[in-house]
Amino acid sequence: MIGGGFGGLQAVQTLRRAPVEVTLVDRRNFHLFQPLTYQVATGALSPGEIAYPLRSIFKRSRNVQVLLAEVSGFDLDARRVLLDGVDGIPAPPSLEYDTLIVAGGSRYSYFGHDDWRATAAEVKSLESALIVRSRLLSAFEAAEEESDAEERAVWLTFVVVGGGPTGVEMAGQIAELARDTVRKEFRAVDPRSARILLVEAADRVLTTFPPSLSAKAARSLERIGVTVLTGRAVVGIDDEGVTIGGDGAEPERIATRNVVWAAGVTASSLAARLAELTGAELDRAGRVTVEADLTLPGHREVFAVGDMVRLSDTVFPGVAPVAMQQGRYAAAVVADRLRSRKTGPFHYRDKGNLATIGRAAAVADIKGLKLSGFLAWVTWLVVHLWYLVGFQNRLLVIVRWSFSFVTHGRGSRLITNLPAQAREPQGLADRRR
Ligand SMILES: Cc1cc2nc3c(=O)[nH]c(=O)nc-3n(C[C@H](O)[C@H](O)[C@H](O)COP(=O)(O)OP(=O)(O)OC[C@H]3O[C@@H](n4cnc5c(N)ncnc54)[C@H](O)[C@@H]3O)c2cc1C
Repeated sequence: MIGGGFGGLQAVQTLRRAPVEVTLVDRRNFHLFQPLTYQVATGALSPGEIAYPLRSIFKRSRNVQVLLAEVSGFDLDARRVLLDGVDGIPAPPSLEYDTLIVAGGSRYSYFGHDDWRATAAEVKSLESALIVRSRLLSAFEAAEEESDAEERAVWLTFVVVGGGPTGVEMAGQIAELARDTVRKEFRAVDPRSARILLVEAADRVLTTFPPSLSAKAARSLERIGVTVLTGRAVVGIDDEGVTIGGDGAEPERIATRNVVWAAGVTASSLAARLAELTGAELDRAGRVTVEADLTLPGHREVFAVGDMVRLSDTVFPGVAPVAMQQGRYAAAVVADRLRSRKTGPFHYRDKGNLATIGRAAAVADIKGLKLSGFLAWVTWLVVHLWYLVGFQNRLLVIVRWSFSFVTHGRGSRLITNLPAQAREPQGLADRRR
């Protein structure tokens, strides 16, 4: 099993009681609950509360082994996965298999502008979320020390690129951080004067939701101080600002040192590798096309699931329930084969869409039932707690959220300068020289 994310975890959990030996390979030693990484990026939760060690999850499953290693390729004819060590930790050069399930996920794509990545960090990985956290919090510190009003405004301008659920959630959280959490903590600067912009190229935010919920989400964002710019595409990002075009208008320059990237994703490079080896099609988002039973063409022993796959006639939404259902399905096919039973094709059961905007504000579209406001927010809380891995994490997050709700605080607002990862905000660096 490659990948201990949402798809991989479900596959291995389903296989725990089957008469099989499972090796779970991941380049991280933990399962990450990506839907809440943006809360780490804004200091609401700590990394340990949304991540759980893979070895700990499977400590009682005698037929499951965990291996920390990076998958660098496949030899499908020899039925081998090729491995590299991670950060100097040794790993075997390859691993044999009878059946292979690949769930490598996806990563953010910068639409061919990889140079934007250094300035506009994303919140998909824990490492990057911590960089975003340091930059957001550093911006308030820099503004406090800045005597020039224009420069101070630059520090207090935050741009979130991409109006999907992550962008909406990030913008909402930054607004709450500025207007609520740190409101009384600075002396020279009023954090409430922060400008938070959410830039979306489509004509509305949350395009996977019904238009009425997109409109409600945009209104909720505006209410908490976020400026929503739809129909506007980001055409340039550098250390001193963002250039946005679109709507037939002249490109507009926004001076800022805080840009968060929450736009398009592309599949794991493992999808391209599998496509190359099997002749399967690869779509523009880098997803490999699998058969109706999620196997690769000509290789019924190789399954691929989650964010990195599609069917020839269906593109699934890039959400956790798809990966989880596919992981469970692939494992069920493996178990059925052992009992010489046939399994029908994979069908996705869509349970709905949720996005939170901020304190007691969210939107939900559950099988046509449209919810917004407090009820949607409670639904969002319950669903996220339900799927969070580990009883201890669930308990910790309930306590954190309850405490934050009452005190308006955020318990994890640390500026941690991660060497080599944290890019020091330019202005701060200049000042120190
Ligand atoms: C910020 C953010 C917020 C989100 N919010 C939501 C939400 O609210 N609701 C929702 O349903 N979905 C949400 N999603 C989407 C959801 O997280 C993904 O759809 C889901 O994680 C996909 O599962 P997966 O198993 O395909 O991949 P992942 O969960 O990403 O797992 C992939 C695993 O593979 C490992 N891996 C990758 N490449 C290699 C390699 N070469 N060698 C070894 N290991 C490797 C990775 O370390 C990782 O553990 C969000 C995503 C992001 C980024």
